[in-house]
Amino acid sequence: MKSLGAPATGGVRFAPSPTGRFHIGNLRTAWISYKLSRQLQLPWIVRFEDIDRPRVLAGAQEQQLADMRALGLVPDQVLVQSDFEERHWQLLIRAIEDGVIYPCDCSRKEVQQALSGLASAPHAELAAYSGHCRPLSRRELKSVDSIAWRFRMPLESGIQDFIVARTSPQLSENGASDRASFTPSYHWACAIDDFDGRYDWIVRSSDLAHALPL
Ligand code: GLU
Ligand code: ZN
Repeated sequence: MKSLGAPATGGVRFAPSPTGRFHIGNLRTAWISYKLSRQLQLPWIVRFEDIDRPRVLAGAQEQQLADMRALGLVPDQVLVQSDFEERHWQLLIRAIEDGVIYPCDCSRKEVQQALSGLASAPHAELAAYSGHCRPLSRRELKSVDSIAWRFRMPLESGIQDFIVARTSPQLSENGASDRASFTPSYHWACAIDDFDGRYDWIVRSSDLAHALPL
């Protein structure tokens, strides 16, 4: 499904993932978000977050729209996140050029091992990376299929250098842009799209509260 029209700016946005049928909690968030938009007389924007490809289910977007419509929740605009992938990609390249992200070839196992022995950090979920690949001089990557690009967070933020995307290692080694290997993280795509949308309000479920600092 393509987005309908150019992205609106402003409004209240609701961003479901088309990974299955809505449960009561999704509908609750949708309803609150819709009601807020009516109260404030702002457009209600529904943005389907379909970039987590393996989890996307064919037909789920249409089903979710139908379920919302049955409750009188009709979007003023429908956006589909994958339509903005070029923008997510362009900003990745810019972030590399600006040095605000760096390549990390640590395996999940290595990330775990580097952490054992450290006292548990305040934001345990977020503080899960040791910063192993942070030093600028460390450019020799292991031979791996894919690398993670991590955001160089200010140390005082207390937030780990979280992953913004995965690509093939060639992008780090020789700048060859293998766009097909590009997989943005939820945090990256969502922050860019929310910024570009200039929404007045974002309504999301509280199970995402831990992701807010990122
Ligand atoms: N797509 C996310 C979800 O359904 C919500 C993202 C957001 O509201 O920021 O859990
Ligand atoms: Zn690393």
